[in-house]
Amino acid sequence: MLIVMRHGATPDEVQKVISVIEEMGYQAQPMPGNQRTAVGLVGNDGRVDASRLEGLPGVHEVIHVSQPYKQVSREWKADPTIVRLPGGVAFGGTEVVAIAGPCSVETDRQIIEAARQVKEAGAVVLRGGAWKPRSSPYSFQGLGKPGLRLLAKAREETGLLICTEAMDETGLGWVAEMADIVQIGARNMQNFSLLKIAGRCGKPVLLKRGISATVQELLLSAEYLLAEGNHDVILCERGVRSFDTATRNLFDLTAIPVVHKLSHLPIIADPSHGTGLRDKVIPMARAAIAAGADGIMVEVHPNPEEALSDGAQSLFPDQFAQLMREVRIIAEAIGRRVAEPAAVGA
Ligand code: PEP
Ligand code: MN
Repeated sequence: MLIVMRHGATPDEVQKVISVIEEMGYQAQPMPGNQRTAVGLVGNDGRVDASRLEGLPGVHEVIHVSQPYKQVSREWKADPTIVRLPGGVAFGGTEVVAIAGPCSVETDRQIIEAARQVKEAGAVVLRGGAWKPRSSPYSFQGLGKPGLRLLAKAREETGLLICTEAMDETGLGWVAEMADIVQIGARNMQNFSLLKIAGRCGKPVLLKRGISATVQELLLSAEYLLAEGNHDVILCERGVRSFDTATRNLFDLTAIPVVHKLSHLPIIADPSHGTGLRDKVIPMARAAIAAGADGIMVEVHPNPEEALSDGAQSLFPDQFAQLMREVRIIAEAIGRRVAEPAAVGA
């Protein structure tokens, strides 16, 4: 439930609303806005009797949030959330942000080379997993902590920001310490205990849609992060499992406008995992930008044929450079622009 205060309501009136919410046994979340202040009521399991709140001085209206997710909904917050990162990079504003890099961090040379190549093409965030969720326990599992150190070195040399996945509580602590964005992968989208920890980690979180998750489930998982106090959440459409084996996953482009309608959170697209096929990544990345995605995450490897994971969907660096040229034109056509890399380490 959302208690919207009148324009010009006094701090005392806002405080009174907070106290009454707390007396009723719920938590209050004041949200000062440019036009007016609202106070969110959370912690309720069902409909709350609003009569005590409606009559308080300074209260303009009480809105019952109709969705099962509250704080991530557009009803709760009409303006888009802009997730700000160091160096002026922002997800959810006018700019479209490119995250690129290999599926896994493999070697010092591989990640530094990949970082330079994606930066030159126009990415501002470097991706690369140090811990990899693999279907088979015999497949490459990632370098672990040394992989994080290589990512930190790549950031130092190129100025790119770092986005990398955390798979468990211990790893999340390390990732949150080092990375600029903590990635929660598709397989962990409903790992609720991990989500709660990520909600308190103090870094922006990239939450990927689960392999068979509905948009509502994705938004409910994001609600876990906001409920713990982390409002810097970026959603990611990465395809869902389907009956059709023509592609690795069914890349759900519609999820982008659907999420934008239901939620104020930014959403980016990952056409690499969404399609699983290198030659399908490029058209789907273009389409995602045209559909309004706030960014793209693309797997790029200096030598995809030798990649230790996801080589078949990894772009060659020159393909990524071409894609970025196309994406700039598409972004401009819809009144946006692609965020450009800072001059560090150029
Ligand atoms: C990844 O980004 O490397 C990854 C494993 O993605 P997903 O969780 O979407 O499968
Ligand atoms: Mn991958």
